[in-house]
Amino acid sequence: MLLPVVRYIQELERNTRIEWKSMADNNDALGFTSVFRTLLKTEQEEQQTRAESSLPSAPSLIAPGDVQRAFENGEFRVYYQPKVLATTAEIVGAEALLRWQHPEFGVLTPNFFIPGMEKSGLIHEVGAWVLRRVSELNLAISTRIKNPSWNIAVNVSPVQFGNPAYLRALLRAAKSLNLPNQLLEIELTETAVLENFKQAAELMALIREYGVTIAIDDFGVGFNSISHLARLPISAVKIDSSFVGRMETSEVDRKIVAALIRLSHDLGMKTVAEGVETMPQAQFLVDQQCQLLQGFFFGRPVPQEEFVAKLPML
Ligand code: C2E
Ligand code: MG
Ligand code: MG
Repeated sequence: MLLPVVRYIQELERNTRIEWKSMADNNDALGFTSVFRTLLKTEQEEQQTRAESSLPSAPSLIAPGDVQRAFENGEFRVYYQPKVLATTAEIVGAEALLRWQHPEFGVLTPNFFIPGMEKSGLIHEVGAWVLRRVSELNLAISTRIKNPSWNIAVNVSPVQFGNPAYLRALLRAAKSLNLPNQLLEIELTETAVLENFKQAAELMALIREYGVTIAIDDFGVGFNSISHLARLPISAVKIDSSFVGRMETSEVDRKIVAALIRLSHDLGMKTVAEGVETMPQAQFLVDQQCQLLQGFFFGRPVPQEEFVAKLPML
């Protein structure tokens, strides 16, 4: 039996030509071009500024004790990368991404420290702290949230997800501030869910009972898991940036992205495209009816104050 996604690709192959529109032949029926041009200009200016400022070199070795000490010293930050509505480019939420403001090396991304945190178990405490920070931000901006589907997504690694304390932290974070739980979303990778499917299904059901939504991160990488995922209470899938990145040069990747979007919609899940870096990518995703877009084209992950400053005023 063919996997559903393979059938979709074949069907698309028969019925649709997945075209790559150049910027010149965009008909811009929805008026995106001007919005995207403005965003593009801002992004280009930002890149220029970044290139000009001398970046610190990455550390070659971080000792395990350093991370623990740094956390206790308050060197970690939560950065926010906007998620925008594909139809209007309105910011309708964010993904929370952990950063280490290292006194010597500058801002470090998670690949430098998350594996170590998982090994030492510090990830549980840090994960609870991220949830609290995100809930505090949601509270601080609650009067400015106009879109009913607003949420801030928090990443949860397989190590965290298997720990019942995480679930308690999740619910406490939202409850203690008396916030509606749907302002929070958790992002789980396919592996986190499939490694221990039965336990994951139970935890996910519980999370949904509280109104917190669930998104599947890096979606599409493990195709054969779709039949399992379709049976879980998943609100959204995040199409992996590797497909998005190759769309411009690969017809196969365009077909895969189109198929993933259609399949997810048919299964009642929203689609978020990750790693959107160019206007043609954004336009293609809009054409394919992908609902939410996230990537450097719309905004890089930035500190909380910078993210809040981008939100529309009351
Ligand atoms: P992810 O959840 O798939 O996050 C998306 C990654 O893609 C982020 O990398 C983001 O900065 C990057 N990104 C976003 N837009 C673009 C784009 O247009 N182009 C390119 N090239 N990259 C883009 P980052 O921040 O380095 O995070 C890496 C991973 O670390 C995340 O992947 C997530 O799995 C993990 N992570 C981040 N924060 C946390 C956290 O608080 N807890 C846990 N457990 N994991 C986290
Ligand atoms: Mg993520
Ligand atoms: Mg991802």
